[in-house]
Amino acid sequence: MDYSTNDSKSTSKKKVVAVVGGGLVGNLNACYFAKRGFQVEVFESREDILQAKIVKGRSINLVLSHRGRQTLKHVGMEDTIISKGIPMHSRMIHALNGTQSPIPYGKKGQYILSIDRANLNKELLSAAETYPNINLNFANKLLDWSTETGAMTFVRAEGAKEEIQADLIVGCDGAFSAIRKQFLRQSRFNYSQTYTPHGYLEFTMPPINGEFAMKPNNLHIWPRNTFMMIALPNLDKTFNCTLFMPFEEFEKVTTGDKVIEFFQKYFPDAIPLIGALLRGIFFRLPAQAMVSVKCSSYHFGDKCVLMGDAAHAMVPFYGQGMNAGFEDCLVFNEIMDQLKDFSAVLPEYTRVRVPDDLAMYNYVEVTYFILLTNSDVNSKWFLF
Ligand code: FAD
Repeated sequence: MDYSTNDSKSTSKKKVVAVVGGGLVGNLNACYFAKRGFQVEVFESREDILQAKIVKGRSINLVLSHRGRQTLKHVGMEDTIISKGIPMHSRMIHALNGTQSPIPYGKKGQYILSIDRANLNKELLSAAETYPNINLNFANKLLDWSTETGAMTFVRAEGAKEEIQADLIVGCDGAFSAIRKQFLRQSRFNYSQTYTPHGYLEFTMPPINGEFAMKPNNLHIWPRNTFMMIALPNLDKTFNCTLFMPFEEFEKVTTGDKVIEFFQKYFPDAIPLIGALLRGIFFRLPAQAMVSVKCSSYHFGDKCVLMGDAAHAMVPFYGQGMNAGFEDCLVFNEIMDQLKDFSAVLPEYTRVRVPDDLAMYNYVEVTYFILLTNSDVNSKWFLF
């Protein structure tokens, strides 16, 4: 099917934008393009999560920072999302001896939010559904696309293949982006993918007597040299805990008794809070790998642009992947305010965005633990 208008490459309103990947960034992006008057076709490999009984996904909750909120504001979603989030005013640092010390996120009254990932996904999808000029195509997986013609090949759930054309392709298909594969063949395209030696494991800290087991308006952190545990509050009064640790350490903890021993050594204050669930936490699911992706440039001619994890996947303990991906949408939109043609907008987006991202990586990699005590909620590179 040829959705493209085949006239000039201007960003005029009748153009068709294909957003490949209907995750957090893809759905928000669809709203941004629709708001500008484009016809938007979203292609998502999964089924419709608003209809699905079981939704698979990564973390249970996410940190929404100031920069992420600004992007939601632009499409009128900030208040809805904030009303379902839990404000966290400080990091609460847990020392080995159980002492807790708060480190505020900036000035009094400033906070970041703990947001339920599944709900955020659903809200973004519901928002996209309200635009008459957004068409959501579920169970459509991109197999390949041609850099010469721009034609994309999708396969549907039942196995049928279809070729689609659009005026602009926006790759929001995550860290293992199929759109990005074609970039790899281009001269002067830089790309790196790195797995950290750390994995992550999520588990729940249940309520105690119907109340939060710890102070809810904090992001709890147990820093322990080469690894750390964090806990974010949920609306149902549980905390979602994530342990980031080298895989070789995970591999040493092979029985329920070893879990208890491990917690006695590193997180003794968390033992009564997690309670009876503790013995089983290492064995429900294996620790998950963490990948970071850096690439440049983010665009191909006037045909295609990468956003979100497809452009810059980062390890979760920065608490920034989604926030940075949301900001991509805002920055691209601002550039479209100034420049008329995709042939000018796309290189400008790369020019503005690539150094920003790379600077962030370098900055956080070098100074993570210094920043832990210094970054504030409004700083561009806020960290946990
Ligand atoms: P994704 O969420 O990966 O979405 C990509 C979409 O594309 C998916 O829906 C997928 O089904 C679809 N897709 C993939 N391939 C194809 C294809 N070939 N054809 C069609 N569709 C396709 N970030 C934060 O800002 N704050 C946090 O606190 C935070 N915590 C995190 C905790 C964990 C444990 C992890 C793993 C990550 C965390 N992140 C956090 C990072 C955040 O999850 C990602 O940055 C964010 O999900 C990126 O969104 P995205 O839409 O770019 O990609």
